[in-house]
Amino acid sequence: MKLPYAEPYRIKVVEPLKKTTAEERKKAIERADFNLFNIRSEEVFIDLLTDSGTGAMSQYQWSEIMLGDESYAGATSFFKLKDTINEVLGMPYFLPTHQGRAAENVLFQTLMGHSAPEMVVPGNSHFDTTKGHIEFRGARAIDCTIDEAFDTTCKHPFKGNVDLAKLEAVLKEYSPDRIPLVLITVTCNSSGGQPVSMENIREVSSLCKKHGVTVFFDAARFAENAYFIKTREKGYSEKSIKEIVLEMFSYVDGCTMSAKKDGIVNIGGFIAFRNEELYNKASTFNIIYEGYLTYGGMAGRDLGALSVGLKESTEFSYLESRIGQVAYLGEKCVEYGVDVQQPFGGHAIFVDALKFFPHVPRDQFPAQLLGVELYIEAGVRGVEIGTLLADRDPVSRENRYPRLELLRLAIPRRVYTRSHMDYIAAGLANLKERSEKIKSGFEIVSEAPIMRHFTIKLKRI
Ligand SMILES: *Cc1c(COP(=O)(O)O)cnc(C)c1O
Repeated sequence: MKLPYAEPYRIKVVEPLKKTTAEERKKAIERADFNLFNIRSEEVFIDLLTDSGTGAMSQYQWSEIMLGDESYAGATSFFKLKDTINEVLGMPYFLPTHQGRAAENVLFQTLMGHSAPEMVVPGNSHFDTTKGHIEFRGARAIDCTIDEAFDTTCKHPFKGNVDLAKLEAVLKEYSPDRIPLVLITVTCNSSGGQPVSMENIREVSSLCKKHGVTVFFDAARFAENAYFIKTREKGYSEKSIKEIVLEMFSYVDGCTMSAKKDGIVNIGGFIAFRNEELYNKASTFNIIYEGYLTYGGMAGRDLGALSVGLKESTEFSYLESRIGQVAYLGEKCVEYGVDVQQPFGGHAIFVDALKFFPHVPRDQFPAQLLGVELYIEAGVRGVEIGTLLADRDPVSRENRYPRLELLRLAIPRRVYTRSHMDYIAAGLANLKERSEKIKSGFEIVSEAPIMRHFTIKLKRI
């Protein structure tokens, strides 16, 4: 018999969870204006809002917390992390930032300045804060993801791939001075935690070189991407995760990183560079926005914990159990007839809300409805990846309808067990049984002009 995945660790400290009743949850979500960001975590039983900063650190990471060097300049913790980034990613220069979006801000400021209405940034389904930072500067994010990514039933192994023809069209239409960078997000969160193949990374890189354009990774889940390359791409099954990661990064000029994901820390981020000149240019902005070069918005102890986290997240046994757990949940959902994005992503299961509530119109936010109802049903909190997240068009101010309407169930790293996965899937199955009785969704009471999903207020129709 093939042995199933099993966590390559045992539990030493536990954090109790509180169970609530459906009545209590109905009250909580009403009080929260049907915005799942507005409920208190103690009102949630299993929290799948995000895998960002929610992971469990290892005993080695906690040891680094004690060893943290809090010197303003030249801290040992900084050099530990610098060595790790060079060893794991092959990037000799880096700037610490307080999280991933701060890395984006500093990098985009360096490459685009304050106002860049004439610029475009092609990529594969940019993350929401990434798009926010691009659009805030008046520039435009152009999504060049392959079409297969938008069909939840299509089993393409690398649905995060960049469509080379779409990218080439952009590279031909705009002169290089109007394309500050091309951004490859690994794995691609917005299209379902889907990986990008090594072949695709290589081809995007050579296309960009040909046109004289810089390429960066949005590397939040680079290790999970490497796992998919190892397990799905021809020629990589015998390579170690660490070898694959080094090859991936060999094709790009640098990366922005949200360390709260594959860094397995609660807070932190960085920008890594191959090129000293670009690093020097960005340094000034890092000092203004984040902090001095050797801490940049992070405590010394967090730099140390991150340097261990990057090594742990690139171990095969860790990734096998992490991604195995996500797939376990996905398979349970399929077994119960719940339509989910396939193949399963690395960090989350994405439930197809248009198939769950086919009778609910899109302007009533069916994925948000699914999130609210699953919370009431089981105390499980997911997050809408649909029309609320997609925001309004900056010019026309109309709702932008993305091609998919999803509820993301993000699995924190090393936090929940297989029985939690069973519980979540059973909650979805029960909800599916009564889904036809839920006839309508929400209308907007109030919303912010940009990134509205975080603070939006809704009411039931
Ligand atoms: C989380 C994330 C970011 C932003 O990072 P924060 O640490 O949340 O600021 C950027 N890109 C991707 C792909 C992410 O998942």
